[in-house]
Amino acid sequence: MNENSHGHQYIDGVYRVGAGGTFPHVNPATGKEAESIDYASVEDVDDAVQAAAAAFPAWAKLTPGERSEHMLKFAAVLSLNADRLAELETAQTGKTTRMSNEFDVPGTIDNVNFFAGAARQLQGLAAGDYAGNSTSMIRREPLGVIGSIAPWNYPLQMAAWKILPAIAAGNTIVLKPSELTPGTSLLFAEFAAEAGIPKGVINVVVGSGREVGEALVKHPLVKMSSFTGSTAVGRRIMEMASETGKRVHLELGGKAPLVVFKDADVEAAAHGAVAGSTINAGQDCTAATRAYVHSSLFEIFTARVAELMESMVVGDPLDEDTDMGSLISEAHRSKVASMVQGAVDAGATIVAGGCAPELPGYFYRPTLIIGAEQDSEIVQDEVFGPVLVALPFETEDEAIALANDSAFGLAASAWTKDVNLAMRAAAEIEAGCVWINEHIPMASEMPHGGYKSSGFGKDMSTYSFEDYTNVKHVLLSHDTSAHKEWQNTVFRQR
Ligand code: NAD
Repeated sequence: MNENSHGHQYIDGVYRVGAGGTFPHVNPATGKEAESIDYASVEDVDDAVQAAAAAFPAWAKLTPGERSEHMLKFAAVLSLNADRLAELETAQTGKTTRMSNEFDVPGTIDNVNFFAGAARQLQGLAAGDYAGNSTSMIRREPLGVIGSIAPWNYPLQMAAWKILPAIAAGNTIVLKPSELTPGTSLLFAEFAAEAGIPKGVINVVVGSGREVGEALVKHPLVKMSSFTGSTAVGRRIMEMASETGKRVHLELGGKAPLVVFKDADVEAAAHGAVAGSTINAGQDCTAATRAYVHSSLFEIFTARVAELMESMVVGDPLDEDTDMGSLISEAHRSKVASMVQGAVDAGATIVAGGCAPELPGYFYRPTLIIGAEQDSEIVQDEVFGPVLVALPFETEDEAIALANDSAFGLAASAWTKDVNLAMRAAAEIEAGCVWINEHIPMASEMPHGGYKSSGFGKDMSTYSFEDYTNVKHVLLSHDTSAHKEWQNTVFRQR
């Protein structure tokens, strides 16, 4: 995957071939076999963790300013290699080069620049006299080795979201990207080393979740498991982490509602719904999946969404005119198609899409469904494809109840011109992010994370440091007497 490298494991600053076997890799946009990928063995995982543990003391001892300088250089190296990263991101995922060039790569570089600054803003309480004749202060300390596991939908950005807050806070890391998309995570680590980040600070091991992922979570030297992926695997990670009592940070699935109130700008809501449901071919944990639309706007909204969806160009991700690339694999496309078929079998109607174009890769048309029941699979379960279900509502209370009637709580949007209604919706919708008259935009300065079965812990922003640091209370006594007054509670002064 990386022309100048040998093997798909990046351990202690060197590429190596993993001892866990070699597996074929398919380009999802062509369906053709690409190069094969070697997997790590449990011993390779151990080597990576040992390398991260060895690199930890020196990295943790650097001043925030020194770590920040390394990260600024890292951002510069990434900028110089932006085209190469974008090309590889598209080749391994099937997403359009437009997405890779305008969203994934610049978003990642912005994240590195943000955490270079945030590294210098790791704050604790400076000092305060709380316990009488003493001064208390807070030290914020890194945890040690972080074990991170990432999904395939935004491989480069997910690698960045996991690695950056961890190393900015002084930790070292072993990342396991998805076995379907390891290429840009490996390049990311290589470019970090090229920028001068010491070997062993960032290690990447590639392989299946069951073998390599589980070995990483269970490793006793790993102090925290940070995971982005499905809710089912997140629960398994939590279970395994309990064996060694380590901290977990879970960014899990989503099923974002998009609520279109009676006074909304329906044209803007339709555009938001189409962009929000088809971004990254719908393989986005915050994608708009359930549109709840006031009954007075339902017909006009669904007609406009269908029209916009039908106009989208689906196909070759390398073509600048293509709007939507392929899904990640044949297996995943089958899952999407079977959930759409299940909705039709249960009585729903397809208004747009609902089929795969006749192309060699794993494509699926943007799809709008109406007439589904609120408790049906298509409304409740994560499809993770370009599929939007629209349902009508009558009252504000009903809309909020429907939006919250989900196991997930990652993101949501509300569309209205009424600022009071917007603020009520923002307060009442149970999700880690609520957009008003928007759906999707994020910022490195703002936290990303879920409520309910969407997990806990934050990616991006300085809030992520809450997960990647320990907070230590240091108390310095300035009472010079041998027997302190409070000790009388334990034994009287003699
Ligand atoms: P997945 O859960 O199948 O896999 C994610 C990662 O976990 C992969 O690297 C995989 O190899 C690994 N894994 C699988 N089984 C494991 C195990 N038993 N032990 C340890 N690791 C294991 O998810 P996916 O299909 O790669 O990604 C799609 C999912 O990710 C969706 O549910 C999506 O909503 C979610 N996601 C969430 C966010 C977020 O920020 N909340 C962002 C992106 C994707």
